This record gives sequence, C-alpha cells and structure tokens, in this order.
Amino acid sequence: MTGSDAAPVVELTDVAFGYTASPVVQDISLRVDPGEYVAVVGPNGSGKSTLMKLMLGLLTPDEGTARLFGHPAHRFDDGARIGYVAQHASAAKEMPITVREVVKMGRFPHVGFGRLSPEDHAIVDDALETVGMAAFADRRVTQLSGGQRQRAFIARALAGEADLLVLDEPTVGVDAESVEAFYALLESLNDEGITVLLIEHDLGAVTEHAERVVCLNREVYFDGPTDEFVESDALARAFGTAAAFAGASR
Ligand code: ADP
Repeated sequence: MTGSDAAPVVELTDVAFGYTASPVVQDISLRVDPGEYVAVVGPNGSGKSTLMKLMLGLLTPDEGTARLFGHPAHRFDDGARIGYVAQHASAAKEMPITVREVVKMGRFPHVGFGRLSPEDHAIVDDALETVGMAAFADRRVTQLSGGQRQRAFIARALAGEADLLVLDEPTVGVDAESVEAFYALLESLNDEGITVLLIEHDLGAVTEHAERVVCLNREVYFDGPTDEFVESDALARAFGTAAAFAGASR
C-alpha cells in the first residue's frame, strides 16, 4: 500500500472521540502536508495523546473521518512509513538488546522473514551515523542516557525509511544539552523532507523549533504559524492564564 504522495500525511475531518459517552476531543479538522513540522500542545488531559492515536488509526473516530497518507487511518498498514518515538522510549527501555539491534528492527518490515542483506546493513549503519550513534552501536539500550536512547529510536525510524516521525514528549527527562542536539537533529531530518509531528508539553521547545502549532484543549484553539501563536491569546485560553505563564517561563 503506497497511497498517493500528493495526499496529506494526516487529514482529520470533523472528528469527535470519547472513551465513554462524553467526548475528549471534538470538532477537530486538521491537515498535515508532507514536509511539515507541526507541534501539538495543550495542558495535561487536553486530548493530545488521543488525537495522536486517532491520527495513526489506533483509535477510530466516533464522528468524522481520519485519513493517513490518503487512506482511512484505521486500515493503514504500512507501519514502516511511520517512526514513532514515545516518551522515554519506554516500550523498549528494559530490553536487553543493543542499539544496532534496535535500529535493525527498522528493516524488518522491508525484509519480511528473510535475512538482512548487505544493503540493509548499510542502511542501518547510515542511520546510526545520521543520529550520531555509530560509536554506541554495540551498547545495550539499557546503558544509554535518555537522549541517546531517543536517538537510537530515531535511527530505527530512519532505517525503516519512515517519512513521518511522530514524537510524544520525546525529551522528557533528557538533559538540556542533549535536548538542543535532539531538536537540531529533528530539524535537519525535516529539512530533508521528513514530516515531523511533535506532541509537546514544553512550550519553549515548541516555539523555538516547530513551524506550525496546533493548540488543543478538547477542541482546536489555534492552528497556524508559531510566531502568530506566540502573539495570540490562544495559549491563555487553552491553558488558563496562570498555567500559560508557568508554561511559557520554562
Ligand atoms: P493528554 O495527552 O493531553 O494528556 P489524553 O489524550 O491522554 O490527554 O487524555 C484526554 C482525556 O481522556 C483525559 O481526561 C483522560 O483521562 C482520558 N483518557 C485517556 N485515555 C483513556 C482511556 N484509555 N480510557 C478512558 N479515558 C481515557
């Protein structure tokens, strides 16, 4: 399943969803085009993770439609196109495997049950190089810093030739210097054409790095260029004034 390259990466139309009878997101219409760098911000419990799951087809809207690469999101099955980096890369944090083994996983959807070819290994090496983790290739992921671990998971996405990177608060618990390097890496990947979708609580990171901000609190309070978001009152309306100032001063 390739989809059309001209299709939006993500397209939500009039989406509403609730785990129970009352919706946690509603009236959501949102389109992300190839090559964009979009941040979704909102207070805790505002529906960011839910929105992301709807975008990726992990949840199905109660109302409206969700499309991913031009296909109904819940039926999209080309997982290699999506690189997902979770908070703390928690899913694999305890796995006793090396960085190289993590990155190799990115090739699995391409080789089925076959063995990795020399070309696959070269792609793995390139991905390790791109994220600056070649020197750590044989280290276990349990022995990495938070920032290094996140780089390993980006490398896995690159090895899978993902064209959409979805990151859920990727720098929580990562030291400040590594955070800067991490965002620089995201920016250079985006410059090469990878679409970046960042769920972020740290408003400082968002306003410095993303080109477009979607501010969410059950509904979309703002969707537009980051500089306009900073000037607008959307932040105060979505977060409540006190929270907005607390967040903005971080
Ligand atoms: P955020 O990511 O912005 O913190 P979430 O999307 O996780 O927000 O949560 C939005 C709302 O949905 C919250 O009120 C949360 O308690 C509720 N919620 C999230 N996941 C579930 C679930 N699996 N079952 C029931 N309620 C949930």
